[in-house]
Amino acid sequence: SWQTVPLAPPDSIFKLTAAYKVDKFDKKINLGVGAYRDNDNKPWVLPVVKKANELLLSNPNIDHEYLPITGLPEFTSAAAKLILGSDSPAIKEGRVSSVQTISGTGANHLGALFVSRFYSWGGDKEVFLSDPTWVNHHAIFKNVGVTPKTYPYYDPATIGLDYDGLMASLNSAPPRSIYLLHACAHNPTGVDPTKEQWAKIADLMLEKGHYAFFDCAYQGFASGDLEGDAWAVREFVRRGVSLLVCQSFAKNAGLYGERVGALHVVSPTQETGARVTSQLSVLQRSEISNPPTYGARIVSLILNDPALFEEWKRDIVTMAGRIIEMRKQLHHLLTVELKTPGNWDHIVNQIGMFSFTGINPEQSKALTEKAHVYLTVNGRISMAGLNTHNIRYFAESLDQTVRG
Ligand code: PMP
Repeated sequence: SWQTVPLAPPDSIFKLTAAYKVDKFDKKINLGVGAYRDNDNKPWVLPVVKKANELLLSNPNIDHEYLPITGLPEFTSAAAKLILGSDSPAIKEGRVSSVQTISGTGANHLGALFVSRFYSWGGDKEVFLSDPTWVNHHAIFKNVGVTPKTYPYYDPATIGLDYDGLMASLNSAPPRSIYLLHACAHNPTGVDPTKEQWAKIADLMLEKGHYAFFDCAYQGFASGDLEGDAWAVREFVRRGVSLLVCQSFAKNAGLYGERVGALHVVSPTQETGARVTSQLSVLQRSEISNPPTYGARIVSLILNDPALFEEWKRDIVTMAGRIIEMRKQLHHLLTVELKTPGNWDHIVNQIGMFSFTGINPEQSKALTEKAHVYLTVNGRISMAGLNTHNIRYFAESLDQTVRG
């Protein structure tokens, strides 16, 4: 058996990291990786996570029993409040079904599986994804028999949002279509709608009866403000758009490998919510039986203890602040010092970990081959890979690449 299994290509991001690792050049830079690095290019364990960890280890009552199928209750309820708001009427009315998942990827998968089983489509069984999006979105929906379609999102001419294209898609899609929306800090472009645009998107989705499948992988990490980064999701709930939210604690708590996340489905009534929860439990049981304990316990301690929560907010500001500072410095180097041809305002206008530089695939490849700067060929850079030691070298390399 397996003689006919074709060889799959390696994952492009992991391939990039492998090439970076074997490169001997002393000024090499890895801007492919989607994880926070401190100013010395080291992974950062959040001080609040260290504290929560110590509390956990010193607790003699911790055991290794299974969690309930839907996860650690004090984690899922606090996680729902974090994204939907502590005073969320939907939570108070008992209309939110929350399930602990294998980080954001698991939340996307469970959400996709749930809609694939239970959503009543107006047209074909398909989902609209932004063009471009996190590549895994395509695979996740295909895996559960939902066909990925794309909607216009990024406009290369402005290095900004193709708002008209997005609205035209919402208008022309079959009624009751599912749209996957990035709650904040769009990956890979770093381009988000403004509040006014979000409001218009919500209005049109309501009018067409579309369903919002929100993916929220960067709450707090985007702007340093947990509340602000949740604005779009809360506004959609307030306006009554049908939706679910996938939530990840990988970036904002630096818990990448611990796989902490949740799926929250908002239903119109408590009674519907109970049925949704029951079906999510059935799906979860057959997939993973029950989620892992460690990361959920850490996040639960942080979310439920006011002092730890305040400390977490400060840690988030440290991460988001360093990234915003790198944006400012890169913009200054390109526009003021090097006078690099072109407009670079998008570097400071984009939000979150990633920035679409606007350079083309040939230029991206040249940056890697000539300057040992590793980035995806679409010109996306991870701002977290820049620091005060390497930013000048990067700006100079980008400048030379653009000048050709
Ligand atoms: N959604 C988006 C848009 C992402 O960028 C990521 C992380 N790259 C995820 C979901 C999932 O990440 P994780 O499974 O590590 O939480």
